[in-house]
Amino acid sequence: MRRTAVFSVLLLLGLALTLISRDPQPDPRLKKAYRATERGGWIQVHLQGQPGEIGYQHGYLLAPEIRDAFRDVSTEMMHDEKKDWEFFRAAARDVLWPKVEPQYRDELNGIVEGLKAHGVELDIWDVVALNAWLELPYFDKWDAKQHGLAAPSATADRCSAFVATGSYTKDGRVVIGHNNWTSYQTGERWNIIFDVAPAHGNHFLMDGMAGLIHSGDDFGVNSAGIMITETTISHFTGFDPDGVPEFVRARKAMQYAASIDDFARIMKDGNNGGYANNWLVADRKTNEIADLELGLKNVTLDRTRDGFFVGSNFPIHEALVRDETDFETKNASDSANARHVRWLQLMEQNKGEIDADAAQRFLADHFDTFENKVDPDERSLCGHIDKSSRGYLPWVGSYAPTGAVQSKVSDAAMAEAMTLRAALGHSCGLGFKAAEHLRKHSEFAWQRPALRDMPSRAWTTFSAQ
Ligand SMILES: [Zn+2]
Repeated sequence: MRRTAVFSVLLLLGLALTLISRDPQPDPRLKKAYRATERGGWIQVHLQGQPGEIGYQHGYLLAPEIRDAFRDVSTEMMHDEKKDWEFFRAAARDVLWPKVEPQYRDELNGIVEGLKAHGVELDIWDVVALNAWLELPYFDKWDAKQHGLAAPSATADRCSAFVATGSYTKDGRVVIGHNNWTSYQTGERWNIIFDVAPAHGNHFLMDGMAGLIHSGDDFGVNSAGIMITETTISHFTGFDPDGVPEFVRARKAMQYAASIDDFARIMKDGNNGGYANNWLVADRKTNEIADLELGLKNVTLDRTRDGFFVGSNFPIHEALVRDETDFETKNASDSANARHVRWLQLMEQNKGEIDADAAQRFLADHFDTFENKVDPDERSLCGHIDKSSRGYLPWVGSYAPTGAVQSKVSDAAMAEAMTLRAALGHSCGLGFKAAEHLRKHSEFAWQRPALRDMPSRAWTTFSAQ
C-alpha cells in the first residue's frame, strides 16, 4: 500500500511537471524587451539585442498594431498607385531585397516570426513592402516610365521641419522640430516610440509606425549625439533599382551615425533616389547642424555652427530643381514656398529665443503667408489640407483628409538624456472628425473602414530606457 501511495504521488508530481512544462514559455528572444502603457496615444517599445531578436520583439510586442497598419497602408498604396498588392510584393522581393544587408534581413525576418508567434500571418514580402511604402511610389513611377506608361500618381509632399543652433537658440545649442504630413488614415497610426538598444551601433530613440524598422517620417536621436529629421523634396522624379532601399539607409544612419559626416556617407552610399528627402541633422556634441539635400543626381551638404535650416518640401539647389523636379520655385501660392517664407519669418522673429517650447509653437502655426492671415490650410506649417478647397496638388485634391498628423521636438539637453517630446494629431488643438468629414466629402468614402477621428493630444515626454 505504502509503495503504491509513493508511486501515486510521484505519478501526480510527474503529471504536474508535464503540465507546467506545457505552459507557453516566453521566447528567449524577448529578453528584456517591453511595451509600455500607452501615453498621449503613443506606444513606447523597448527593443534590444541582436538584429533577429530586435525584429522578433518588434513583431511580437506590436502584432495587433502591425496588422492594423499593414491593412491601411496596403489599401492606400493599392488605391493611390492603382496596382494590386502583388505588384508591391514582387518589387520588395525582386528589386529591394537583394540590396538589404544581412543585419536588416535578420531583423525583418524576426518581425515575421514575432508576428507569427502572436497569431498574425504576414510574410517577409508583405513586411518588406510595408517598410518601403514611402519609396515604392518612386519605384512605381520609374517602372511606368520603363514601360512607356503615364505616371500612376504624384509623389507625396510630406512634412514641416527645422533645426537651429548658435545665436538663433536660447542656450546656443541645438533645437530640432518636425511635424509629419500624411493622410490621416495612415498618419493616425504613426504612434510608436521605438527605444532600440542594438547589439551593434548606438542606442536610438525615434518615432515610427508599427512594422517599420526605420522611423519613416524620420525623427530621432541617438546615443552618439546625432539628431535627425527631414522633409520630402517636392515634385521629385528618379529611382535607381540597383541602389540600396531608402528605408535601409535611413535606419542605418539612425543607428550608426556618430557625426554629420557619418550621416551623409551612410545616406549617400547606394542612394536609390527613393523617398528623396532634404535631411536636417545636428550633432549635439559640436553644436553643428547640416542640411543634406539628397537628390539622385544632385546631392548637397550644407552645414553651420551658427544659423538654421528649414524644410517644407521646397527643393533648394538650382541644379536639383532643374534636373530632378518640375517644381515652380516662384509660385508663392504653392504650399512648399508659402511655408518656406513662414519658416524664415519665424526664425528671424525668434532669433536668440528658440527653444523646445518655441519649437512646439512653430509646429502648431497657422499663418498662411500667401493670404497674409491666419488660416489653417495646406499652406500653414501645421497642415490642414482637409480644410482647403484647393487641396495640395498634385499630391492630393480638395478637402483630402491629409495634413500634419503628429509632431516631435528635442533639444541638445534632451537629446543628451535620450529624450524627445511628441504630440499626436494636429498639435494646434484642432481635432479631426472622420464621420463628419466623410458626410461632407463622399469622394473619400473608400477610406471609411480605416479613417478614424484624430484628436489633438497633449505633448508628452519620452525617454530611452
Ligand atoms: Zn493646426
